[in-house]
Amino acid sequence: MPTSSPLPPADRATGPDVLVIGAGVIGLAIAWRLAQRGLAVTVVDPAPGRAASWAAAGMLAPVTEVHYQEEALLGLNLESARRWADFAAELEGASGTPVGYRACGTLAVAADAGDHAWLGELHRFQLELGLRAERLTSRECRQVEPALAPRIRGGVRVEGDHQVDPRRLSAALLEASRRLRVRFVAGRVESLVMEAGSCVGAVIATAGSAPAGDSGTLRAGLVVLAAGAWSSELAAGLPAGHVPPIRPVKGQILRLRQREGAPVLNGNVRGLVEGSSVYLVPRVDGEVVVGATMEEQGFDTTVTAGAVLNLLRDAYGLVPELAEFEFVEVTASLRPCTPDNAPVIGASGVDGLVVAGGHHRNGVLLTPVTADLVAELVTGGSMPALGEPFSPARFGALAR
Ligand SMILES: Cc1cc2nc3c(=O)[nH]c(=O)nc-3n(C[C@H](O)[C@H](O)[C@H](O)COP(=O)(O)OP(=O)(O)OC[C@H]3O[C@@H](n4cnc5c(N)ncnc54)[C@H](O)[C@@H]3O)c2cc1C
Repeated sequence: MPTSSPLPPADRATGPDVLVIGAGVIGLAIAWRLAQRGLAVTVVDPAPGRAASWAAAGMLAPVTEVHYQEEALLGLNLESARRWADFAAELEGASGTPVGYRACGTLAVAADAGDHAWLGELHRFQLELGLRAERLTSRECRQVEPALAPRIRGGVRVEGDHQVDPRRLSAALLEASRRLRVRFVAGRVESLVMEAGSCVGAVIATAGSAPAGDSGTLRAGLVVLAAGAWSSELAAGLPAGHVPPIRPVKGQILRLRQREGAPVLNGNVRGLVEGSSVYLVPRVDGEVVVGATMEEQGFDTTVTAGAVLNLLRDAYGLVPELAEFEFVEVTASLRPCTPDNAPVIGASGVDGLVVAGGHHRNGVLLTPVTADLVAELVTGGSMPALGEPFSPARFGALAR
């Protein structure tokens, strides 16, 4: 797998330097970073910011989200978390749009004895990995979050796991990119265009009010495939061994709103309630995001009564006051997931095509580092060492 820059010399007469397919937080952040480095960038998406990035809660939670056998991913997650405060400040300055970054910390709590034992195991694992996480008694949990139900057995406080509002983030990235003359095409890519084994552009179908001239083949010096859960489908025409194995994992998530009074929660709360996990992400404006299911259902985005019931029951079990909140929204969307739960970032092995996808549960968290890695690969000439373990090449044998 070559790690040298996949970007040929710009030829603005025949198209942009870079065509980014997909305007979720990943594609948008890449477009912004590449435009900052002076490249002419076009982004194609029929509905920017409206897929997984619209559904996401926006937890920036590498420590409370740590999973066994995902230690390599943990390093990338921690590095992106470290970059978040500066990234948010820079983006807000560049766009004039707040992104809702809150350094609020996270409290993970357990409802019954089994949940408590599981949380104890997680805490031991966090300490083994050298992570900062503090075990709290039931009483201490209620001192941090007075709205918690008295049944809570205990918890783990992680000062460094924060949040951002992904909808505001997408809006800010769109605005910052527009200010740098990134061109947005409201179209759907139907296929990649291959010539002599290289990717040289994409075939675009537009709809609605998009200018008719935006339809057809758009050639570019480089294509970045950042189409979330749809990335593998788009890459289906590539030679064997080069299709990134990204599949959809459905998530259903709720938005409630506090109607009056001081915010019910001070920071993020993750709960284990009789073996099922739920999280509460409170915004300063009174919104509380309640998430989320994890379902292997292919491309289905049906909202189900059972998912809403379970999420509300578990959320209410943690914070009974939520029963008084306005029910604002339920959303179902698709996380882009790979076989090892880590993203694919880097040269695809096909000349002219870079992949940035498969961010699964952590795409919002990983936005700053992913955009920096791709910008460095494209304009600096090589993938930084931090990004090498996430090369699409690691799935060469699996891809079809
Ligand atoms: C319920 C839920 C909760 C989540 N919570 C968190 C969280 O708290 N923290 C966190 O870090 N992550 C969270 N995630 C994960 C996060 O949302 C994703 O990892 C991230 O949004 C992926 O971003 P993306 O840009 O790759 O994909 P998406 O946001 O899905 O964007 C892909 C884009 O590609 C476009 N596209 C698709 N096909 C085409 C085509 N043919 N042509 C042109 N464009 C196309 C789509 O329209 C879409 O806009 C959550 C996800 C879900 C579903």
